[in-house]
Amino acid sequence: MAKIVELPRHLVNKIAAGEVVERPASVVKELLENSLDAGATRITVDIEDGGKKLIRISDDGCGISFEELELAFAPHATSKILQEEDLYSITTMGFRGEALASIGSISQAELVSRPADAIEGGRLVISGGEREGPLPSPSASGTVISVRNLFFNTPARRKFLRTTNTEMGHITEQFTRIALANPEVHLLLTHNGRKVHELPPGQSRRERIGILFSQSMAQDLLPIERSDPEIRITGLIAPPQHARSGSQWQYVFLNGRHIRDRFVGHAIRESYRGLLEANRQPVVFLFIRLASDAVDVNVHPAKTEVRFSNSNAVHSHVLAAIRDRLLQTDLSVPISDQALQQDSDSSSSGAVGSEESESKAERQQRVRRAMADFFKGAPPPSSSRPIESHRASYRLQGNAVPADGPSDLTRPPEARITTESERGREISVPASLPPRRYLQVHNAYLVAEVEDGILIVDQHALHERIIYEQLHHQASQGALESQRRLIPETLEVTEGQMTALENAADMLRELGILTEPFGPRTIAIQGFPSLLERVEPAGFLADLVDVLISQSGNVSKEQLLHELLDMMACKAAVKAGDALTEEEIQSLLAQRNLVERSSNCPHGRPTTIRLSLDQLEKQFKRT
Ligand code: ADP
Ligand code: MG
Repeated sequence: MAKIVELPRHLVNKIAAGEVVERPASVVKELLENSLDAGATRITVDIEDGGKKLIRISDDGCGISFEELELAFAPHATSKILQEEDLYSITTMGFRGEALASIGSISQAELVSRPADAIEGGRLVISGGEREGPLPSPSASGTVISVRNLFFNTPARRKFLRTTNTEMGHITEQFTRIALANPEVHLLLTHNGRKVHELPPGQSRRERIGILFSQSMAQDLLPIERSDPEIRITGLIAPPQHARSGSQWQYVFLNGRHIRDRFVGHAIRESYRGLLEANRQPVVFLFIRLASDAVDVNVHPAKTEVRFSNSNAVHSHVLAAIRDRLLQTDLSVPISDQALQQDSDSSSSGAVGSEESESKAERQQRVRRAMADFFKGAPPPSSSRPIESHRASYRLQGNAVPADGPSDLTRPPEARITTESERGREISVPASLPPRRYLQVHNAYLVAEVEDGILIVDQHALHERIIYEQLHHQASQGALESQRRLIPETLEVTEGQMTALENAADMLRELGILTEPFGPRTIAIQGFPSLLERVEPAGFLADLVDVLISQSGNVSKEQLLHELLDMMACKAAVKAGDALTEEEIQSLLAQRNLVERSSNCPHGRPTTIRLSLDQLEKQFKRT
């Protein structure tokens, strides 16, 4: 081995640059953050060739005095912290003093700056770490940094640059993050001389989202807000129909900084549980505020990851903030006029392709796509009514819903009578709701008249949803209510199944399933969840053991619990093909209004479709 030597400064900077500057977008991020730290109210980002040729950021911030210019590009030179304590209460975006030194070492950069109170500005050029200047120079108040030919002296890195479009995509992403976190700042992005985005100051976040993402999605966003002495969460979340196939549209900001955090990510997915199909991801924009000493931002060179001092608390607050809002919202999907139009068009013209050539799978796919379009961009129903009176009884564990929220005084208190049909199905009916007209069709759907039109309900999906919420509620309170069996049912099992059941005994108890060994290869079911009256215990347990064995070790306990709750709800619910009694239809419909999130079944499919009178009139050309 060679001798140990201290590396020369330019090499140190180059090495640091490897961490901080991955691609042009990283430069954009660092420079934008510097402008924000400088108090800029207007920032322009000019890009050429996806940033490979030029990145120029101009701001109207505090500027850099002539005497300090030289230091700006020195490594570990910063105006943002002075002493160690400052590191634990970071309020600026930067503090490591690395960005400019790194950028200067791997590009041809120029900095022109003037503080507002200085008569003349200064100019400094740095190329591959070699400095020229500073020299006095005319300058507007503020700072302009131009970065040319990034990685010109690190060919290996330059080779890894992608197409102009790809690099520009990354730049736009960084710009978007800054724009969402700083709605009060005027931001302009241009590429090869053409305007990409101009965001005037003082826009609402919803307006910015409309411009940067999609207007129709922005319109539908639901505001969230949650305050607590340690944490404040505000933001906008999208109803389930706007879900995406990836998590790219989940934006989380902590104290104004865009972060990626697996606890928060998990809480987001968890809060939409049951509302989305398995391969869909929610769209959310979250702005979290925490005391600066409750989080360590100095764990990642680009500061995109942080360490919370109490990540569990952050998780549960995020979960509650989103879930509260989803629970209060009627998420039933109105049919859009456009969708109705499309439907009648395709059936009359046969434009979709000949029947023979379209396979069943293709057809299913087409129908799914049509359904997705159906639900896309539909405005929330005007009659949407918060489920206030019911909310209290479905409160999540550890979930502090403000008790002083608006309450619906017009609604009489819940008087519940429990009706029991001859088949032992139990659905409780709130006595207060007025009877509506309804009809069961094909033993599968319920059609009901409501004030502004009709609802079409999938009876199985809705009942499944109702039972799921009841199970979920009971589970969150501790354990599911279990009904003791006078004569225990028995089930024959293999050794392996026996072990799986024994290992899961605690979880089964939480689910209200009480079992005991009853001979060498037999177990007895002593207690079974009271909500699952319709379900045959031995058969259910046999299925459950299969799930336990196939999932063991693959999923967390919590995921498994949810899977089992799903399975219970599905088995306990009425099926398509079941003829329902008057009473059952009535109570099912009545509970639709009461049960949280009844508009999607636990698998994320909608339970209810809404057709308004206006839409009917349009279809029949009455308007
Ligand atoms: P850091 O942001 O971590 O302090 P940088 O290398 O990004 O480190 O910047 C070094 C210093 O240069 C900053 O601390 C700041 O004082 C100054 N600076 C950089 N960009 C600007 C700007 N646009 N306006 C005013 N000062 C700036
Ligand atoms: Mg910086």
